Amino acid sequence: MPAPKEDYYRGAGRPKLRQKGEKLAPLSERLARIGLASDWDFVLHLPLRYEDETAIVPIGSLKAGVTAQVEGEVTLERVTPRSLTAEVADATGRLQVRLLHFYPSQVRQLERGSRVRLYGEARPAWGAGGLEMVHPKVRRALAEGERLPSTLTPVYPAGEGITQLWLRKRIARALLDVDLSDLMPEALRVKLGLPRLREALLYLHRPPPGADLSALQERTAPAWKRLKFDELLAQQIALRHSRALRSAARAPRLAPQDGGRLTSRLIEGLPFALTGAQLRVWKEVAADLASASPMNRLVQGDVGSGKTVIAALAACRAIESGRQAALMAPTEILAEQHYRGISRWLEPLGVRTAWLSGHMKGAEKREMSARIASGEAQFVVGTHALIQDGVAFHSLGLAIIDEQHRFGVEQRLALRGGSGGLTPHLLMLSATPIPRTLAMSYLADFDVSVIDELPPGRKPVSTRLVSIARRDELIAAVGSEISRGRQAYWVCPLIDENEQLDLTPAKTAFEEIRSKLPAASVGLIHGALPQAEKDAVMESFKEGKTDLLVATTVIEVGVDVPNATVMVIEHAERFGLAQLHQLRGRVGRGSEKSWCVLLYGEPLSETGRERLRVIRQSSDGFEIARKDLELRGPGEFLGARQSGMPMLRFASLEEDGDLIDLAREAAAEWLRTDPQTALRHAKRWFAQREGFLEA
Ligand code: ADP
Ligand code: MG
Repeated sequence: MPAPKEDYYRGAGRPKLRQKGEKLAPLSERLARIGLASDWDFVLHLPLRYEDETAIVPIGSLKAGVTAQVEGEVTLERVTPRSLTAEVADATGRLQVRLLHFYPSQVRQLERGSRVRLYGEARPAWGAGGLEMVHPKVRRALAEGERLPSTLTPVYPAGEGITQLWLRKRIARALLDVDLSDLMPEALRVKLGLPRLREALLYLHRPPPGADLSALQERTAPAWKRLKFDELLAQQIALRHSRALRSAARAPRLAPQDGGRLTSRLIEGLPFALTGAQLRVWKEVAADLASASPMNRLVQGDVGSGKTVIAALAACRAIESGRQAALMAPTEILAEQHYRGISRWLEPLGVRTAWLSGHMKGAEKREMSARIASGEAQFVVGTHALIQDGVAFHSLGLAIIDEQHRFGVEQRLALRGGSGGLTPHLLMLSATPIPRTLAMSYLADFDVSVIDELPPGRKPVSTRLVSIARRDELIAAVGSEISRGRQAYWVCPLIDENEQLDLTPAKTAFEEIRSKLPAASVGLIHGALPQAEKDAVMESFKEGKTDLLVATTVIEVGVDVPNATVMVIEHAERFGLAQLHQLRGRVGRGSEKSWCVLLYGEPLSETGRERLRVIRQSSDGFEIARKDLELRGPGEFLGARQSGMPMLRFASLEEDGDLIDLAREAAAEWLRTDPQTALRHAKRWFAQREGFLEA
């Protein structure tokens, strides 16, 4: 289990000080922020850790490093503006107490002569010898021998202005109100040796004295196993269910009578031969397309592996079978690049293409929509504009989604839409490799093809870490590369000045580089530019009229300019691993040696350092994704947005691989024997995420 962040639990139970007049958001809103709305949410809001206040330890038998509760009388106290120190004694010994920040109420609690209960970790005292507790939980003891709690005290993740006491009561009520009876078949529960759901939940919220705290903390206790298993089971049921729904749907068979004249002509006309991996993947895609159940295939290939050709081939297959094909890309730049690139391949073959952008004006947009609706346009490329109102296809046979991780599941479904009772095939492309464990659970509903080979002649990109202090030196080096006819990218994290973050923003970098390299033609592109201007800047760079392009991450995905050989990333430590890998993938696309220079600012955080190390040492997208997963955890790595599935809260894909396997088997069996109850189980778990079962 990942250790809770320290500032998180230090704050737990201690209300945050508010400025005078500052209003707290309504309680329901603050609760919603931490995911608490229904009774079931509260039931599943599990403690971060526990405090054992069921016993009082004599001060004399305290040991350094042990967390315990003691009770005694305050015998000494000292308050300075910076600290509050006190001494607490019982019949067996004495203990120092130190608070470095404190409230007036705590000063009153620790007045000489008062009886207090302290809960905290004993440590060797600072300076004086003996033991001390720093920032223990302090409360007044009413009388000696006051009744002790009979269970461990849970400490919950809490939000602003939400106290532990309130949460404890609210959760206790939810535990009474919610139906916690087991849905899981009894035989399965017994076979796996799992406790009942009610038992497991009560144990986790209120463990009995003597409970194995480390098994609780590490989430290995049987009660934890039960919750993890239920969650994985629900997920597997949902996945199987959506797969079943899909295979019940009918798709147009895309298998032309004349043996595929369009696809063969496309292959013959390409300026290169397909790699073995591309051929294999195309075969897999073609086989799916020929089937009457809708394809749901993800093509994964590292940046530059040549996924676009696969998309073009699949589109040709749809068109030669008398259907339309649509390709949706996440950014205007990328959509337009695809439009131009693929059109250049397809138009000579007589294919009628169309382009739909969110920036199109009324009349132009209406005209495009009409061409799409009449079937006149056979291949349509666009951004999200494709799934916005008013775009209806005549006979869509294939929907292609590039950089699919940038889209949510609703968007994928929207494009697929369906026409004439038939569901179009869906082809997704992604350069973000998904580690096996993730693929197995989140993407169990996709078929996956991998392009595991780069086109020949690619030279690996050399990656260098350079301190930002050496920026000038680097600008000069880039200048000399440009004078050899090469082009370069210079990527910055922000557009505008931002004093707080002290990052060199794109605009400043642009001005500076322009003045330092007067001979070079320097361009600037960022998200805030009007579309027409972005297009012009990109076009000029593609045509080689611009030597150096200063950019924000708008150029992160897909952009393909083979003559660009240098990628400089300023403040590389602020970018995520996947992003760095994508950015680096913009170079090394031609036959010349390429460079990626990561300019880092200091001080580097621990993860920042680790990320840079990983990206420098590896150019393998899979390896990088695996590390990314390690550094960030799956929750962030692959949002619910991408998978369409609720994220796992309890089970860990890395640690619970054996449970995943068990859950898969059990889900299949349960759906076979009692699908109604199995679906109820899945709904109970993912109730908040309405609609996912249909996805
Ligand atoms: P990505 O997988 O990152 O989308 P692209 O499809 O943009 O990659 O291809 C990257 C570059 O490689 C393009 O310029 C493309 O024309 C070229 N390319 C694709 N396949 C091959 C091949 N088999 N041989 C040589 N070049 C290829
Ligand atoms: Mg691409």
